[in-house]
Amino acid sequence: MKKFSSINRSHIVNEALQQSFDLIVIGGGITGAGIALDACSRGLKVLLLEAQDFASGTSGKSTKLVHGGLRYLKQLELRLVAEVGKEREIVHRNAPHLTKPEKMLLPIIRNGSLGKLSARVGMWMYEWLAGVKQEEWHQVLSKEKALAAEPLLDPEKLLAGILFYEYKTDDARLCIEVLKQAVDKGVYALSYMKVLSFLYREGKIYGVNALDVLSNTEHQFTAPYFVNAGGPWVDAIDDLDQQQNTHKLHITKGIHIVVDAKKLPVKQALYFDTFDKRMIFVIPREGKVYIGTTDTFYEGDLRYPDVSLADKNYLLKCVNTFFSSTALELSDIESVWAGVRPLVNKPGKGPSEISRKDEMFFYPSGLLTIAGGKLTGYRKMAQRVVDKIAALHVSATGKRLPACNTANISLSGGTIPAGKKFSDFLKEKTEQALRLGISAEEAKNLVYRFGSNIDQVFSIFITIQQKPEPGQLPALLEAQLLYCIDQEMCMSPSDFLIRRTGYLYFHIDQVKAHQFTVLERMAVLLNWNNEQKDWHLANWEKDIQLINAIRS
Ligand code: FAD
Repeated sequence: MKKFSSINRSHIVNEALQQSFDLIVIGGGITGAGIALDACSRGLKVLLLEAQDFASGTSGKSTKLVHGGLRYLKQLELRLVAEVGKEREIVHRNAPHLTKPEKMLLPIIRNGSLGKLSARVGMWMYEWLAGVKQEEWHQVLSKEKALAAEPLLDPEKLLAGILFYEYKTDDARLCIEVLKQAVDKGVYALSYMKVLSFLYREGKIYGVNALDVLSNTEHQFTAPYFVNAGGPWVDAIDDLDQQQNTHKLHITKGIHIVVDAKKLPVKQALYFDTFDKRMIFVIPREGKVYIGTTDTFYEGDLRYPDVSLADKNYLLKCVNTFFSSTALELSDIESVWAGVRPLVNKPGKGPSEISRKDEMFFYPSGLLTIAGGKLTGYRKMAQRVVDKIAALHVSATGKRLPACNTANISLSGGTIPAGKKFSDFLKEKTEQALRLGISAEEAKNLVYRFGSNIDQVFSIFITIQQKPEPGQLPALLEAQLLYCIDQEMCMSPSDFLIRRTGYLYFHIDQVKAHQFTVLERMAVLLNWNNEQKDWHLANWEKDIQLINAIRS
């Protein structure tokens, strides 16, 4: 039985109920996914429970960079810079399709926060700490060269530029690929399975009571070890453990806006000074440009953080004051997303000053909670958590677990044939796609989306073209939907159009044109009754409530 197929979900749940697990991970964002992969690769039997879709929390709403952590240098977070910088290289090796090196331009401007010398010193320190490989060391550009690299820059303000490398990713897909790899190694990963309470024996947790949100039934799962990887919900999950209720998170919100590349025709990605002495990114992607982020304390709904008019106007102002030739307006915003950062509380610090470091908490009930951290550092965080579980396991059973080996485990989609460079793989698959009638642009997006699993999408595409069915989506969209249902536990239109493909952010026209056909197709493929269809539609509408462009 395929263990990550949406069609098999009820069988997978039933099978999970028969298993005896070593570890239950609560939360299916990147932190939980990383822990599940690490633990199963060391021989533990793992169950991961996620209240909604995988990566539907912060892990699908980040700036979508596997960072070198340059900005943490300013806060003297040297260990963090060193760790995420090195991790970036490992993630790139294990998932080359999801970590695309991208030259980022840091313009040095008159009265800006960085001078040429201070920026260079910072870059040298960063490259040394993060172990950046020589071919990716920064480059200093004269004013003329910086202008040639980015003609939209204002020549009156510009003094020089620095080019450095960041790696673009798709955060939600990174999380899905980690999970696919974990499931392949034996993990049971159940989405839409919300942990409601813990079960206790002599003061120790021995199980959880979880609600299957899709069938509205409750289930009990047991194990000796439990990890709370709830991201922004870490405190809420800790609250379920009656033995402690120390709130440890400070939540800050960050939003991103997306405009068409024609409205902001930057030639390349930039990281620049804002009028209020912060730094933001402008990043071209798939014919669009996204801009972010903000960083403000937040106390509202964690599931659906709002995007206020003030948030949007702030980012527009940052862009319009920096590039004096642009005049972006609210109506240019095609899409937005808002994420909340689960930061470990440090009273008295401003939102951008609080450390992004992770911290572990171990409670008398046996619950192990991991809070804070970065998408980029997920593997190291997982290693620390599983090392702790390994230590508990030795004390309890006398049995040692093997050391962490995830640095050497390719993620799903990351298995590029030995000896082949990713660029050659991309070229080969693009040529194959062209022969199938897929455009080069679409082919590139598909390769970055599915990596070495692309052949499976192609073969579905060929079958659809040979045997079209009534009511289908356009062949390429249909092929992706069928693949995601069959291989990626895609349970709803939001799962597909937001987290499996990123269409809501970067292909809004496709979403406008096909959102209801996606719903109809999923209803047929997953055998929904009218009530289930209405439920998925209502969820989809909640997910797009921030995006006016869809309704206009
Ligand atoms: P989440 O992804 O939120 O996962 C927690 C999961 O727990 C959720 O899916 C939730 O549904 C689930 N859950 C909650 N309650 C329950 C329950 N009762 N039962 C079961 N499941 C439950 N990092 C980078 O490295 N690069 C970046 O570019 C970057 N940019 C960022 C930009 C913004 C605006 C923000 C907010 C963060 C950014 N980060 C970035 C940080 C990074 O995104 C987060 O550190 C990371 O995604 C946190 O992952 P997580 O798994 O801990 O939390």
